[in-house]
Amino acid sequence: MDERSERGSSGKVWPNWCHYHKGPSATAVMVDFIERASAAPVGLYACAPCREQRGLVPVGRCP
Ligand SMILES: [Zn+2]
Repeated sequence: MDERSERGSSGKVWPNWCHYHKGPSATAVMVDFIERASAAPVGLYACAPCREQRGLVPVGRCP
């Protein structure tokens, strides 16, 4: 566990995290999964502006 990757959080868990601009966002939703070789896939989240810029569609939502 590398806690330095969440500097400043000190235990506080943000409701949503945007993996694209690498910051917390109230509008972030899961848009993809990160496949890992030896563990379960983890969700990849993007906020509204990042989704718009990159044309991302939230997982589980029909386009
Ligand atoms: Zn973002």
